[in-house]
Amino acid sequence: MEKIARLLKEKITGPVKTGEPLSRHTSFGIGGPADLFVEPQTVDELAAVVSVLRRENLPSFLLGNGTNLLVSDAGYRGAVIRLGGEFREFYYRDQTLVSGAAVSLAVLARDACRQGYANLEFATGIPGTLGGALFMNAGAHGHSIGEFVLETTLLDREGRIHNLGPEEMGFSYRGSRIPTGMVICSAKLSLLPGKAEEIEEKCRKYFEFRAIRQPRLPNAGSIFKNPPGDAAGRLLEAAGLKGLRIGGAMISQQHANFIVNCGGATARDVLALIAVARQAVREKSGVELELEIKVFGE
Ligand SMILES: Cc1cc2nc3c(=O)[nH]c(=O)nc-3n(C[C@H](O)[C@H](O)[C@H](O)COP(=O)(O)OP(=O)(O)OC[C@H]3O[C@@H](n4cnc5c(N)ncnc54)[C@H](O)[C@@H]3O)c2cc1C
Repeated sequence: MEKIARLLKEKITGPVKTGEPLSRHTSFGIGGPADLFVEPQTVDELAAVVSVLRRENLPSFLLGNGTNLLVSDAGYRGAVIRLGGEFREFYYRDQTLVSGAAVSLAVLARDACRQGYANLEFATGIPGTLGGALFMNAGAHGHSIGEFVLETTLLDREGRIHNLGPEEMGFSYRGSRIPTGMVICSAKLSLLPGKAEEIEEKCRKYFEFRAIRQPRLPNAGSIFKNPPGDAAGRLLEAAGLKGLRIGGAMISQQHANFIVNCGGATARDVLALIAVARQAVREKSGVELELEIKVFGE
């Protein structure tokens, strides 16, 4: 691993670390070490990283803000790539927001609101990056990010750039059809001019809604997708799961579709709770809950 780290340090200006604890990079605060952790600052640096990892036959995982992830306690035997530098920049061109994939979606929503642009109010308080939001087709309050995408720029494993329109991204409920190994570098989002006070009022309402409904302890957002015509939170609550605890992980008292880290929770604790919750809902309501969070690592 040291040899690959040295090779990467010659190619990029961003950090290259070995044995980086992923618990530092997930909103759950859970996750063992990544063999390699690299932060390319430009598209050229990203292409160089991808090329070295391909040559060395090392698997890689693209990390956003880690707000929808459960990383295993043993960590990851490969390279975790997190985008820095120019991927954290954004600007407006007329009614289009052009943003790097590492910009926080909540920051984009707040800034567009300040500029008097409508469309992104739904994203107020969603804590992921734009890249993670596009991969997951993040949404709330009846809207999701895919609706506002004009174009996305991605880099493939061979270092080639692709510009994809929304149809090619294959957005669906909390998902997209981005081929494995492709990295979202940036996107263009369509905005609409609106009345500043109305937009601000909407953002304020959405923010308060979150503050009341969502737990404060470390979590990874909704654990399960909502099944058609129902809410996972309602089914979990009906199965009497609120407050159920295994090790340091607990099904939130506030919202049953959130698992919180009460302190010292492990991925094993969370996975055990997930298994119990699924079984209880299956027995009570006959519904098979599907995971929304992504689980990765050993
Ligand atoms: C308190 C809280 C509230 C939340 N509320 C909501 C909500 O209202 N609605 C909602 O939809 N989600 C919500 N989430 C979940 C999460 O914020 C979103 O899914 C978010 O879009 C994930 O972004 P991320 O950058 O954290 O991605 P990560 O969790 O880091 O990664 C998620 C997936 O995206 C992939 N990915 C990330 N960046 C890229 C990239 N540049 N290129 C290719 N693949 C990439 C990763 O490989 C991974 O498979 C919430 C989470 C928390 C903790």
